[in-house]
Amino acid sequence: MNHSTSSKATKRIAVVGGGVTGLSAAHRLLELADAQQQSIEVTLFESQPETGGWIGTIEQQDYLIDTGGDMFITNKPAAIELCNRLGLEDQLISTNQQYRGALILKDGQPVPVPLGFELMTPSRIGPMLKTPLLSPAGKLRMGLEYFLPRRHSTTGLDQDDESLAHFVTRRFGEEALTRLIQPLVAGIYTSDPEKLSLRATLPRFLDMERDHRSLIKAIRKQKRAAKSADATGARYGLFAGFRGGMQTLIRTLAERVSERGTILFSQPVTKIKPVAESGYEVTSESDGDSQTQHFDAVIVTTATHHAAGMTADFAPELSNLLSQIEYASTAILVNLFKLSDIKHPLNAFGLVIPAAEKRKIFAIAFASRKFPGRAPEGYVQLRTFVGGAMQPELLDHSDEELTAIVQSELADILGVTGEPQFSKLLRHNQSMPQYHLGHLQLVEEIEQQAARYSQLELAGNAYRGVGIPDCIHSAEQAAERLFAAMLTPASVQSP
Ligand SMILES: Cc1cc2nc3c(=O)[nH]c(=O)nc-3n(C[C@H](O)[C@H](O)[C@H](O)COP(=O)(O)OP(=O)(O)OC[C@H]3O[C@@H](n4cnc5c(N)ncnc54)[C@H](O)[C@@H]3O)c2cc1C
Repeated sequence: MNHSTSSKATKRIAVVGGGVTGLSAAHRLLELADAQQQSIEVTLFESQPETGGWIGTIEQQDYLIDTGGDMFITNKPAAIELCNRLGLEDQLISTNQQYRGALILKDGQPVPVPLGFELMTPSRIGPMLKTPLLSPAGKLRMGLEYFLPRRHSTTGLDQDDESLAHFVTRRFGEEALTRLIQPLVAGIYTSDPEKLSLRATLPRFLDMERDHRSLIKAIRKQKRAAKSADATGARYGLFAGFRGGMQTLIRTLAERVSERGTILFSQPVTKIKPVAESGYEVTSESDGDSQTQHFDAVIVTTATHHAAGMTADFAPELSNLLSQIEYASTAILVNLFKLSDIKHPLNAFGLVIPAAEKRKIFAIAFASRKFPGRAPEGYVQLRTFVGGAMQPELLDHSDEELTAIVQSELADILGVTGEPQFSKLLRHNQSMPQYHLGHLQLVEEIEQQAARYSQLELAGNAYRGVGIPDCIHSAEQAAERLFAAMLTPASVQSP
């Protein structure tokens, strides 16, 4: 029985990775230490010369460019709550209502997503009947969903995993999948619908089937309930961004962490090793030199292929499981065009492109239609997405080739004629964890393996959600678990 874990001794905690997850974890640890008047030292290791991971903002003279994500969903509270605690409420902005909605490419033409259609569920009949996105037979098949029974399962719906493609084809038919739902979901997960686990990504649709039998029935019921409820509603829309770009959150978190902790830039962690007495030795590299420091606890927030390398020596099973999570790559070409050089009115937040259209891009975000400050007057910022899980081979092209491919697609689809005033290709290699069938089972196994090592936590976008609020939630939960465990006398932990 070890009584050496006194709650008042200074604890040293290493956070590995300085993306939004690592920064949020370090920040939460420092918040908890303040609130409970505990003495801790937090050291965050980041392999790059700056923090942010896949999040970043390029500031031009009179506009800005978000290099990765540019907004987050507000109905998952972790991000909004963190912003409130950081005093960033007045930096948050809602999307511009004037251009709300998305377009889907059909036979080379951008067509609006029917009003009331949300990712998978049509809540209004009229717009669905009128949309040219589906054939009459496709619409009829979609409407039949209202009458279909629940899926009968031998193991129980809750336990079963099902691919997005299987679920959507079963409920709404093939055409709804290929023409509507595949492109909308790919815009979020850049994934292959045949492999994407619905339970791990969009479980609410499985729950709708379980609880209401029909998704159409469920969504109509939800809409009626929302209408009759007091509509004082959310302060922000469904999505929020930052006036000064997503970097606002990263910069503020990094400042707060640096005030009370340490951020070590350009110091990749190469190895973590448990120490017999307690804690971990963390080895990092800096300018070609290797350094090892002792910490009482570690939170690893990097992509799982990096985490697998760090843990391979002492936890081969954990490392093996971590390396089973696949990642997809994507590239974004950011362009600034004169509005007068584009034929299409760009009256939406963006365009998604079904794989069935066989184009070489899969989405275009009209960034300056979503948020102010993304283009000077008379210009528009377009962010065009290439690659993803469906077309990884396109990313083998050189920057010049890829830029030329995208410009030609933009000319064809949106009628872009002029040269861009600004153009930058951003490559996000191995950036998007793929939640394949069986993902939640794999995550549970990872968690069980990680639980064998006390005061070692894993957090990040690879496990239970890829969005920014999911990452923050995962980080804060890891920090809270660790904090609680560290302050529990060892005698209680090991009876
Ligand atoms: C192109 C793109 C667009 C997106 N758009 C949105 C969006 O609009 N809204 C939304 O909610 N989400 C979006 N996402 C998802 C979201 O941005 C990410 O899931 C999230 O930023 C991941 O953060 P993270 O900290 O978990 O991981 P990462 O950002 O991968 O951070 C991990 C950090 O660890 C560092 N690191 C790696 N190895 C080591 C090592 N050995 N030692 C030390 N440090 C190391 C890396 O340099 C990195 O800084 C998008 C993602 C991408 C790629």
